[in-house]
Amino acid sequence: VPPHARADPGGNVRVVVRVRAFLPREIERNAECLIRMDPGTQRTTLLAPNDADPVNARARARKAVEERSFTFDRSFWSHDARDPHYATQEDIYDCLGEEFLDHNFEGYHTCIFAYGQTGSGKSYTMMGTPEQPGLIPRTCEDLFERIAAAQEETPNISYNVRVSYFEVYNEHVRDLLVPVAPHQPPYYLKIRESPTEGPYVKDLTEVPVRSLGEILRYMRIGDSNRTTASTKMNDTSSRSHAVFTIMLKQIHHDLETDETTERSSRIRLVDLAGSERAKSTEATGQRLREGSNINKSLTTLGRVIAALADPKQHRPSRGGASSSVVPYRDSILTWLLKDSLGGNSKTAMIACIAPSDYEETLSTLRYADQAK
Ligand code: ADP
Repeated sequence: VPPHARADPGGNVRVVVRVRAFLPREIERNAECLIRMDPGTQRTTLLAPNDADPVNARARARKAVEERSFTFDRSFWSHDARDPHYATQEDIYDCLGEEFLDHNFEGYHTCIFAYGQTGSGKSYTMMGTPEQPGLIPRTCEDLFERIAAAQEETPNISYNVRVSYFEVYNEHVRDLLVPVAPHQPPYYLKIRESPTEGPYVKDLTEVPVRSLGEILRYMRIGDSNRTTASTKMNDTSSRSHAVFTIMLKQIHHDLETDETTERSSRIRLVDLAGSERAKSTEATGQRLREGSNINKSLTTLGRVIAALADPKQHRPSRGGASSSVVPYRDSILTWLLKDSLGGNSKTAMIACIAPSDYEETLSTLRYADQAK
């Protein structure tokens, strides 16, 4: 148990929202920005769309187009780079990534999710681009910088870093560090449960890494192996949850007693599958099955985080048992991330939103709101 562990995991969930810039297709159709963010209050407002934008026609037809406001821990305005409140990739890291890495060095497990519809900026936020690296490469960079600095200052602590990268697709787990064999069915790994370690993926590749260059290389290998399939919505729509895990072990060698103690923490960085509803992609057959499995993991994740965020859920009921069971087992994703959600872990959700899609944005904001 880490020294600063809190008894009540309530309050360990952070929820932030980030709105991206217009894409060329949105500029082309003259889309209006439906998002307002107040940097003073961190309030995010979704405006009712006007009549011109076809993307919002369905919502208007259902007359479900009221202005709605939500307050999250932070609202990141990444819509207009000329705005003084524009949130850069660096701002996101400074606000969330850095603090979470502090927790990892203190011995906590952490988990940061990017949630949102396809095209809302999840990959950009987590992975970024070579010019604008996202949370994952920045975390890796900071991690190795801190290790290098610590090795100078405290030579009696040594560090061991390992990495794994898997995806959950259709409630199956695939190792992203193993190349996809051409013309062969995908190879799925089995899930096991250890009495001490809890649920884990059997035979998952876990590689030791000693430098930033090495870890980034594995990140890129995994990324290129990641399943993508085209849908009506977006040709590279991602239908899988990608879980990048860094295992940090700090080995403390007490020079006086000659004893060694270990402190292990897991850093989970998760790019979730697109949250768009199956009906809006006109999915059938295999696609629909994917859709409902994606929703199963996303719905369960929402319920798990909501349960963890709600301090009431942790009070013993009159019968003495916990008043509710956190439903980890209801999906593969939450089951595998059990150790990184709740307990003494820190969790953050980045709700990514597009600037001009009323229905999907409302659904994302509601999802994020229940996780607060
Ligand atoms: P998702 O992973 O949710 O499907 P992406 O991260 O691929 O979405 O983002 C969709 C597009 O929007 C990409 O072209 C990406 O570069 C761009 N984009 C996303 N967020 C931002 C941002 N904050 N600033 C600039 N471009 C962004």
